[in-house]
Amino acid sequence: MQLRESNIDRLPKTTYDVLIIGGGINGAVSAAALAGKGLKTALIDRGDFAGLTSMHSSNLVWGGIKYMETYDFALVRKLCKSRNHLIKNYPSTVQEIRFLTTINKGFRYHPIYLWAGTWLYWFFGSCFTKIPHLFSRKGIQREESIINTDNSIGGFEYSDAYLHDNDARFVFNFIRAALNRGCVAANYVESLGARRESGVWTVKGRDVTNGRKFDIRAKILVNACGPFVDQHNGLTGQQTEHRHAFSKGIHLIVDRLTPNRRVLAFFADDGRLFFVIPMGSRTCIGTTDTRVEDADVQVTDEDIRFVLDNINKRLTLETPLVENDIIATRCGVRPLAIQTEGDDDRDFLQLSRKHAIDSDHKQTHVSIFGGKLTDCLNVGDEICEVVKGMGVGIDYPSYKWYGEPPVALKEEFFHQARLMDLDSYTSPEASEKLSTRLWRRYAIEAIGLLENIREDPRQAEILITGTEYTRCEIQQAARREMITKLEDFLRRRSKIALVVRQEEIKQSPGLLEACEILFGDQAQAKFDEYFKNRPASRASRPSVERPSTEPE
Ligand SMILES: Cc1cc2nc3c(=O)[nH]c(=O)nc-3n(C[C@H](O)[C@H](O)[C@H](O)COP(=O)(O)OP(=O)(O)OC[C@H]3O[C@@H](n4cnc5c(N)ncnc54)[C@H](O)[C@@H]3O)c2cc1C
Repeated sequence: MQLRESNIDRLPKTTYDVLIIGGGINGAVSAAALAGKGLKTALIDRGDFAGLTSMHSSNLVWGGIKYMETYDFALVRKLCKSRNHLIKNYPSTVQEIRFLTTINKGFRYHPIYLWAGTWLYWFFGSCFTKIPHLFSRKGIQREESIINTDNSIGGFEYSDAYLHDNDARFVFNFIRAALNRGCVAANYVESLGARRESGVWTVKGRDVTNGRKFDIRAKILVNACGPFVDQHNGLTGQQTEHRHAFSKGIHLIVDRLTPNRRVLAFFADDGRLFFVIPMGSRTCIGTTDTRVEDADVQVTDEDIRFVLDNINKRLTLETPLVENDIIATRCGVRPLAIQTEGDDDRDFLQLSRKHAIDSDHKQTHVSIFGGKLTDCLNVGDEICEVVKGMGVGIDYPSYKWYGEPPVALKEEFFHQARLMDLDSYTSPEASEKLSTRLWRRYAIEAIGLLENIREDPRQAEILITGTEYTRCEIQQAARREMITKLEDFLRRRSKIALVVRQEEIKQSPGLLEACEILFGDQAQAKFDEYFKNRPASRASRPSVERPSTEPE
């Protein structure tokens, strides 16, 4: 917790070039880009970094094949390029994955039309990924025996990409990159609003953990509050060209349904694409797309029934999935950028998923609307351009602020790992070699972990049973990852809370020791706080009606 406290001490002490409010993906890339290019940057979030929308995505980095249907080719082309750019720059984290799409009889488009669309999609992606592949009904059965092909006329496979770890971890790594470059960031610090006087913004900040209030000053204010951008603009009196509409989406996480590392794509009863996505030893199913007025959303029984009904119709599992099979849920709203005047009458599902950056140069204020994880590098670059136009000098304009470390460093890490036989410490239950995992998660910081293990081999032991987390990683997390609550670690820096049942986590003998490393003498209090605030797990609630297993 020391890093957070020292950053909170520093926040009121200087006038920053830029203060970013919100540490989701949009705020995180803005901070990494601006700090990397030499601006004096600060960032606050009233919850944890990536604690809102950015931890509820489908973990997909994709060109948006579904936007082909609305002929939004410019968006598809842009997203495909962004996807390729991310795959190239984060080869360990953002990985190409195949999407096997099953088409049922009577679908609204002729299969030839869909097949042609898949090739067009591939061309829009500069032919960067593996070529599409056509499947007969039998071929689908051979490849994925769990797919119900009773009503199918075949399907096709194409490529997009996914985040190997987790969206929230991906976001945190941008926050960490920003911290490395001098950004002063703190989680659990809320902006209560801001006023601008003599060319400087003064934000009233509040440390959410103790209620202490203080001022933070900056020449430029970037509002990256995700679904709360409009609300924060209301606090500062900003008029913008765009505003947000909200679309709620949920995912369910269950035991792994298929051993193959590929996404299964289907068209749900409402005609929308939905996915069965690999998540380590689990499978993530979703999502939904429901217009809502309020950003504060919960998973309802109706949402669960919709996802379970749809998946059970499309798979031939030995026993259909029921509510008790759900290990964890994810639920958030997509903030969709719409014109402040006029967009209301458009069909909701047709609303564009493009981001928009509204800037007021006179007021030196910037608001980021909409966006996707996929498009995050563009957002970072665009924010730098906007800020440059506001007259703040950029010391290192050509600094490349994103990407994994150079190949030579990676080779050095794996060379050292081989020489010390690091992979012999890989736990038998692990899904991959320890060296691969450490590099992907920590990149250059993983070299320091090797030294910890050389000093004391116990550092390579799994601390929390049932997870892949080693003792040295938890020590590193305590020092470098600003973990303020146990949930920050279990749900966002790691994905333990998504893939391990709550009851199992609670009983894991190592969890309290992990809390001691993370929180020192507050360990028991943080442990109790986490489990006290957990809603009853789905498995312990009365089950919803068993869904129908009849094919469509
Ligand atoms: C169900 C679903 C599936 C999705 N799937 C994908 C996908 O597969 N691929 C993809 O690319 N995109 C996907 N998206 C879209 C993507 O997740 C979002 O567009 C993105 O996460 C939005 O990030 P953000 O930074 O704007 O907002 P957020 O992540 O919501 O961040 C905003 C932050 O601002 C903070 N904040 C708000 N008010 C204040 C205040 N007053 N003071 C301080 N802090 C404040 C919040 O605490 C929050 O952390 C999906 C979204 C959803 C909901």
